[in-house]
Amino acid sequence: MYFYCRNEFYFDSFIFMAQLQSTCQYIPTDIQKHNLPLIHGENISVIFEGKQNTTAVDHVNFGIHKNKITAIIGESGSGKSTLLKVIYGLLEPNTGEVRYNGWLVPTRKDKLIPGHDAMKLVSQGFEDLNLYAKVWDNIASQLPNTNIAYKESRTKEMLIRLKIDHLAQQRVADLSGGERQRVAIARALINDPEVLLMDEPFNQVDAAFRDELQQDIRNIVNEFGLTVILVSHDPSEVLAMADELIVMRNGKIVDHGNPTEIYYSPKHPYSAILLAKSNILNTDEANLIGIASNNTVGIHQEWINVEPNTQSKFYVKDIKFRGFYKEYVLSNDSINLHAIVKSKEPLAKKTYVAIQIERYITF
Ligand code: ADP
Ligand code: MG
Repeated sequence: MYFYCRNEFYFDSFIFMAQLQSTCQYIPTDIQKHNLPLIHGENISVIFEGKQNTTAVDHVNFGIHKNKITAIIGESGSGKSTLLKVIYGLLEPNTGEVRYNGWLVPTRKDKLIPGHDAMKLVSQGFEDLNLYAKVWDNIASQLPNTNIAYKESRTKEMLIRLKIDHLAQQRVADLSGGERQRVAIARALINDPEVLLMDEPFNQVDAAFRDELQQDIRNIVNEFGLTVILVSHDPSEVLAMADELIVMRNGKIVDHGNPTEIYYSPKHPYSAILLAKSNILNTDEANLIGIASNNTVGIHQEWINVEPNTQSKFYVKDIKFRGFYKEYVLSNDSINLHAIVKSKEPLAKKTYVAIQIERYITF
């Protein structure tokens, strides 16, 4: 049992705690009653030392709520996996602390087997799976042999819940990416963790099977009352899955909140680009298209309407085929705007078009 005292207190709403002055590592909180986060990170930084030091996570604060799917999104190298490892207790942060239910999350120096007991991490490359063992054994091996009947029934239950009972006797090496991911999740959930951490869980799942796996994970979250933290670089994935979103850039959290709110009213231009491939204009550029703003402006591609107009300075510079829609590059030779055009008549390249902006964001 690790035990050390701190001269600080956790939630400043608990004023009475100030009187305690020296509080020990557990700070009693009624997270449900006060709608406080289940997991709380404060001032977390991680610096990897090398020829050049890398600040992978840079003084971040966050809260993860119980029974929700929280997605951490950002481009490659933004610090997502590092933050996930800190939350789980695999990495010791250089500054700050993570608390679970008010308790400090023990790290490698406090615990022989790293990883918080109430959490399970499904890592990016299925490193935890034994490729040459059967699906059944990969999952059942997580339970002790003290109660064989329970071990059998629980393994069977997990196989059914993850819809892989027909694969029980196959080797993991012979499975598809999506099936392996299901095995990894079943293995992680068999011991009833409270929190499931997933690092890029759909990377190796064919697009055709992603929707179903995403829906199944959502159902499991509801049934099991799980809290999920999911790392992803794919906006369509996180928008479909997440109840809460954390946007990371260069080790910092630039946006945190409800996905719909962040999509429509991001605080940072980076979130607008990442989630909506938004057009970001400086004030001069915005003025040129009739938006009077003293701030940087973001215009999502679906907020631009166009109509052929020979008097306009804007013309269709390029058309990108995106499957079920076309992305038009509209230009006046000084600004390029990317727009999803929903016109009945397809517009040809070099057609002059008048531009109407339905909506925009100011930063
Ligand atoms: P993401 O998961 O968002 O792609 P990571 O958290 O893996 O990002 O990495 C963040 C930064 O930290 C990157 O610049 C990466 O190169 C660096 N990094 C990650 N792990 C290590 C490590 N073990 N040693 C040194 N640098 C690392
Ligand atoms: Mg990563």
